[in-house]
Amino acid sequence: MSECTHLQSIKSIRAPLMLECEDCVKIGGSWVHLRTCQACGGTRCCDQSPNQHARKHALSTPHPVIASAQPGERWLYCFPDEAFLEY
Ligand SMILES: [Zn+2]
Ligand SMILES: [Zn+2]
Ligand SMILES: [Zn+2]
Repeated sequence: MSECTHLQSIKSIRAPLMLECEDCVKIGGSWVHLRTCQACGGTRCCDQSPNQHARKHALSTPHPVIASAQPGERWLYCFPDEAFLEY
């Protein structure tokens, strides 16, 4: 079992407002998959994407948890604890 308390504190899942990486859009980058920050609702790109904006956001802010923004995927991930949870 993980020691992550961040995932346990998530009561409802924030859905993506836009299906694009807001940071890639600014720099003209591209992405593979999208993740939505569960603290601020911002959507950014995954670890398979060249810029890994979701990871950078999570590790540079007090916003550790993302949800997959991909249709049909229902899971949460905490970056600092590397904890994964399906819902
Ligand atoms: Zn955590
Ligand atoms: Zn990005
Ligand atoms: Zn955030």
